[in-house]
Amino acid sequence: TKKQAPCSKDTICLTQIVLFLSCQDCTICMEALAGPSGYKGPGVGGISRAESVGRLAQCGHQYHLQCLVAMYNNGNKDGSLQCPTCKTIYGVKTGNQPPGKMEYHVIPHSLPGHPDCKTIRIIYNIPPGIQGPEHPNPGKPFTARGFPRHCYLPDSEKGRKVLRLLLVAWDRRLIFSVGTSSTTGESDTVIWNEVHHKTEFGSNLTGHGYPDPGHLDNVLEELKAQGITEEECLP
Ligand code: NAD
Ligand code: ZN
Ligand code: ZN
Repeated sequence: TKKQAPCSKDTICLTQIVLFLSCQDCTICMEALAGPSGYKGPGVGGISRAESVGRLAQCGHQYHLQCLVAMYNNGNKDGSLQCPTCKTIYGVKTGNQPPGKMEYHVIPHSLPGHPDCKTIRIIYNIPPGIQGPEHPNPGKPFTARGFPRHCYLPDSEKGRKVLRLLLVAWDRRLIFSVGTSSTTGESDTVIWNEVHHKTEFGSNLTGHGYPDPGHLDNVLEELKAQGITEEECLP
């Protein structure tokens, strides 16, 4: 029989791990990580104790594996999982934006509040269509109001960064969604998703215009909440 090696700095003692786990709770179900998941649902039975705790690779936060699976299944199943403790996003989040076109070009005029640069104009065009399985009412038509929608960014370094990330958001179908418009109350229609755009050029009648000194930073935060950052998008 082999003699067991003593605990050293290179190997963590098993009793230490057990003690560590037993005093930590899974913050999804609020039960101890050392015990079973507090989530009693179908589909994830029969996993052994050794496989029952998952450690998220990037942030290191730990949960019952069954709780992570339940959280994913109870969400919108968009291909991503967000750590409920620190909000780190795993996987690539995608949306349900219908097919369409995104174009942009530079126009030789300055936006209020950005006198030293030209302006990027983005043109989104989405035609009406039929809802897919990823939409609220599959098989039912959806309308598309106010297209083409024109949006404006300063053609500055930060404005161009926002544009690069918006192009990624478009590819991931995160700029628009299908649902009920909070402005008009119309249901089954194309609506802006969680990323704010400026749709007025020289005026600010709707509140979606310039000047707005915080706009670019706000959009960068909103893109981050969708899992889109420059660090993540660079090769
Ligand atoms: P919504 O009303 O459900 O709102 C979703 C988000 O978009 C909210 O955060 C809201 O603050 C923002 N938002 C609302 N109106 C906006 C606007 N005019 N510009 C930029 N952001 C706006 O979203 P929705 O139904 O897609 O848009 C609201 C209305 O604005 C729609 O009736 C649409 O037709 C109209 N619109 C028209 C044009 C146009 O060029 N004619 C352009 C953009 C929006
Ligand atoms: Zn749990
Ligand atoms: Zn975390």
